[in-house]
Amino acid sequence: MAALTDLTIAQLTSTLAQKEASAVEVADAHLAKLDEHRALNAFITETPDKAREMAKASDARRAKGEAGLLEGVPLAIKDLFCTEGVQTTAASNILKGFVPQYESTVTANLWKSGAVMVGKTNLDEFAMGSSNMTSHFGGVENPWKRKGDNRKLVPGGSSGGSAAAVAAYMVPGSTGTDTGGSIRQPAAFCGIVGLKPTYGRCSRWGVVAFASSLDQPGPFARTVEDTALLLQAMSGHDPKDSTSAPLPVPDFAAAARNPDIRGMKVGIPKEYRVDGTSDEIVALWAKGMEMLKAAGAEPVEVSLPHTKYALPAYYIVAPAECSSNLARYDGVRFGLRVPGKDLTELYENTRGAGFGKETRRRILIGTYVLSAGYYDAYYKKAQQIRALIARDFKQAFETCDVLLTPTAPTAAFAAGEQMDDPVSMYLNDMFTIPASMAGLPGISVPAGLDKDGLPLGLQLIGRSFDEETLLRAAAALEKAAAFGARPAGY
Ligand code: GLN
Repeated sequence: MAALTDLTIAQLTSTLAQKEASAVEVADAHLAKLDEHRALNAFITETPDKAREMAKASDARRAKGEAGLLEGVPLAIKDLFCTEGVQTTAASNILKGFVPQYESTVTANLWKSGAVMVGKTNLDEFAMGSSNMTSHFGGVENPWKRKGDNRKLVPGGSSGGSAAAVAAYMVPGSTGTDTGGSIRQPAAFCGIVGLKPTYGRCSRWGVVAFASSLDQPGPFARTVEDTALLLQAMSGHDPKDSTSAPLPVPDFAAAARNPDIRGMKVGIPKEYRVDGTSDEIVALWAKGMEMLKAAGAEPVEVSLPHTKYALPAYYIVAPAECSSNLARYDGVRFGLRVPGKDLTELYENTRGAGFGKETRRRILIGTYVLSAGYYDAYYKKAQQIRALIARDFKQAFETCDVLLTPTAPTAAFAAGEQMDDPVSMYLNDMFTIPASMAGLPGISVPAGLDKDGLPLGLQLIGRSFDEETLLRAAAALEKAAAFGARPAGY
């Protein structure tokens, strides 16, 4: 039998159902991998005791014939989801030591379906970043390396720990959040599948807020089917989140098991042909379209004319919302407190010591664009652009069912590369941000290796709340690309 840690979620659930292994054995096998690969720094908090306790309870449920969809499946949770009784930091010094007294809806849904938590994963501070290098707890190492080059590469971000943990076979699945690309870009950098659902599909309740109108929880896994299984357990209407969609949860796994895309129209947005994208990625994009065509899909050229404004508009909207959301960290209610001679000084000392450089930069930008004199010139304008971006997609979806684009303009880069200039870091999300601005679902599927042996991803974008078509197309792409590579030594 294959090692338990090599199994996909679908394989694990059937192994467990056939009693070929217990949930405790499955948890122990994965916990041993956490030990083995601790140097990747993928986790901020490991929860081995909790994992064994949850696995034991899972075995007991199974013995009673009460197995849920993810019964006994070990998962890693981005340390942005509040977990009752388990430290939740958002990778920020300001939340160090914060232990929530409540569970986020998404994680509660996962536990209800029988999943087992092995720990909380590292991320960019407050999910702001594309490299995981802004974490107060240090960067995460990507398990992949360039051929013949021992330099450490970043896993992408912000959900870098969650992606690295899945790519390194420490867990078969994990949760992330995606505000402008934080699930899709790390999935591409780590050679796994990452799905950002439609805004409103998964509840944001109990997820530390970055930019509330963009934030969306979603899954990472090594197969499209596994992301569908996770999404099925994570999603659903939540009265505690007013932006949660009151829609039933479709059978996502069934959609992912049906890669029949005959007659599906796949849009290729011409504005996504931008300078700065690596030639290999451009070639892979064309190859991806050929593969979908061979599977029966029909390519259609579409236009999303406002694409070039998406990134600048995002870097107004997201910081604006972040500056308002992060106002609550004042040393009074959560985490860190640095005393001062009066209340104002306590606020200043706490926020000065608690927030990292990138977080402070975003708060400053956000406060500026929301200030009385600049609100109309920046924030209002950005919101108007956002409406135009959403309209572009709506029009494109009149002639196609999904869009195919690259996920990121480059493969994973080395820690230190692209770091000095924040703007070049921001460019990493140029292909993921437009769908975020429009609230649309997107998925990154590993589709090939570059000349250095690093994984590259292709992104599919779907219609609002049509994750089923998206998953079907992703399954077809996965099947045709037959990626199957794993990082050396893992
Ligand atoms: N990299 C983008 C940013 O820094 C997106 C982050 C995210 O999706 N959370 O804002």
